[in-house]
Amino acid sequence: MQVNVYPWQHDTWQHWQKLLGQDRLHHAVLLASPKGSGRIALTAMLAKTILCKNGVAEPCGVCHSCKLFDADTHPDFHLLKPEAEGKQIGVDAVRKVNQYAWETSQLGGQRVILIQDADRMGEAAANAVLKTLEEPPSNCHFILLAASMDTMLPTVVSRCNKWKPKLPQESVVKRWVEAELFDSVPLQVIRINRGAPLAAKAFVESGSLGAHEGLLDAFSGYVTTKQGLFTLTEKLIKSGNDGLQWLSFLLLDVMKLQQGTQEGLVHCESLPLVEKIGRAVSASVVMRQLTALNKLKSDLVRSTGLNNELMVSRWLSDFQ
Ligand SMILES: [Zn+2]
Repeated sequence: MQVNVYPWQHDTWQHWQKLLGQDRLHHAVLLASPKGSGRIALTAMLAKTILCKNGVAEPCGVCHSCKLFDADTHPDFHLLKPEAEGKQIGVDAVRKVNQYAWETSQLGGQRVILIQDADRMGEAAANAVLKTLEEPPSNCHFILLAASMDTMLPTVVSRCNKWKPKLPQESVVKRWVEAELFDSVPLQVIRINRGAPLAAKAFVESGSLGAHEGLLDAFSGYVTTKQGLFTLTEKLIKSGNDGLQWLSFLLLDVMKLQQGTQEGLVHCESLPLVEKIGRAVSASVVMRQLTALNKLKSDLVRSTGLNNELMVSRWLSDFQ
């Protein structure tokens, strides 16, 4: 697991180091930070430090524990995450972690359980984890990672020591991504990725720039000519959750323009396209379809994948 502390995480990391140095780190740390903010590398850094046999506020990098951590084979480190991207963490997986929490450390030290996407635990799973957080086993640390605390079970949140580091301003993020890629990057890429630096960088590196542009063009063509439903559905299915999120941003932009404001548009560099859609689709349809899209996104998280194409194509048909 990659460990790192990015420039915008220094404050949080220094606080944690201080707490570690004073042996005051809470047994359950909850970090709320968007995907692509470098949150996994930061919490891995914390886990590695807790487990290190020599370091107190920094992993030494040479002890047996650090070596095992780097090789992803540390017996006292357990990572819990959804089985597939965008899916929920099930109650059975949490029960296994609860059992693990009560086992003794293999290396005779601390144990760390990292729950990635803790905001993707269903109610039963969250309640199961709550029990362990309420009566924490000794020498066992929980690190919970979430995009937002708002969708988590409040009783779980209240049991944790909460951290919500701020992301840098978008101009700073843009400069950081450009320096990493040795290339200029449109501002809307930063906004599409909610200002998360690593997500914006990965967006460019993975070729999403082209996929995003292609999807927007296909969508605009469809809503203006009412043709190309099949191709568009295919494109949307291919781009998965990301594609639906891009359209959600796009419709919100259209709605803003229709209401006469350009403030905070995500697609700030695709204004002609946003305007074109705004002329072709009435404000009431935009609003209705945006609401339906948000519901569709959450329905797809729970779906088995069999009906995805049908559900997406039905939503698109409602533009007609
Ligand atoms: Zn070490």
